Amino acid sequence: MCAGPQYPGRAVVPPGGGTPVVEEPLPPAGTEKNLPTATVFALTADPKVCDKLRALPNVTIYPYQDVLEFLGDDKLTGVRFKSTKEDATERTVNCDGVFEYIGLEPTAGFCKDLGILDRSGCIKTDQFMATSRPGIFAAGDIIVKFLRQVATACGDGAIAGNSAAKYVEARR
Ligand SMILES: Cc1cc2nc3c(=O)[nH]c(=O)nc-3n(C[C@H](O)[C@H](O)[C@H](O)COP(=O)(O)OP(=O)(O)OC[C@H]3O[C@@H](n4cnc5c(N)ncnc54)[C@H](O)[C@@H]3O)c2cc1C
Repeated sequence: MCAGPQYPGRAVVPPGGGTPVVEEPLPPAGTEKNLPTATVFALTADPKVCDKLRALPNVTIYPYQDVLEFLGDDKLTGVRFKSTKEDATERTVNCDGVFEYIGLEPTAGFCKDLGILDRSGCIKTDQFMATSRPGIFAAGDIIVKFLRQVATACGDGAIAGNSAAKYVEARR
């Protein structure tokens, strides 16, 4: 929830169920200044991270929910959601921001026969952003990596572009 610090003292909802959405509210919600109030729809993530999240006073957790509706006309005012459990309870949370972060599904299926994907479906590259297939380079969120952010995607792109140019140049 990189945008969390831009919502000081305001309420945000990061729907999601995995480790990224549970981990990411921790830094902004856990700082003493500029507390946003986060309502998280989780918890299928790492139990230790979930425990840290539960301990934050300004975070409310509603596990296993389906978002039904974003409320508001010109401006977001809240989220309506429903429990996926048997009781199917519906609730509305008033909030100033929603950060959708519902899993990561790599769209590299078109590469599946090339043998360059890992088990999660991301593309494996080396430090030059080269795959194991000569002449195929990859960059950004789609590769196997630790931190998926704009800055790292741009860095990957610069490296991949440079590597691809060198590859072409070497074959002239
Ligand atoms: C909710 C959310 C909040 C985020 N907040 C931040 C933030 O505050 N700061 C930050 O640094 N990062 C943030 N990120 C992460 C950041 O958005 C990504 O790391 C970054 O966009 C990755 O860039 P990319 O070019 O690799 O992928 P993308 O930005 O996903 O671009 C990939 C492009 O490829 C296109 N595409 C997909 N398949 C094909 C195909 N087969 N053929 C042609 N085109 C295709 C897609 O349509 C898309 O346009 C956030 C991510 C999410 C989900």
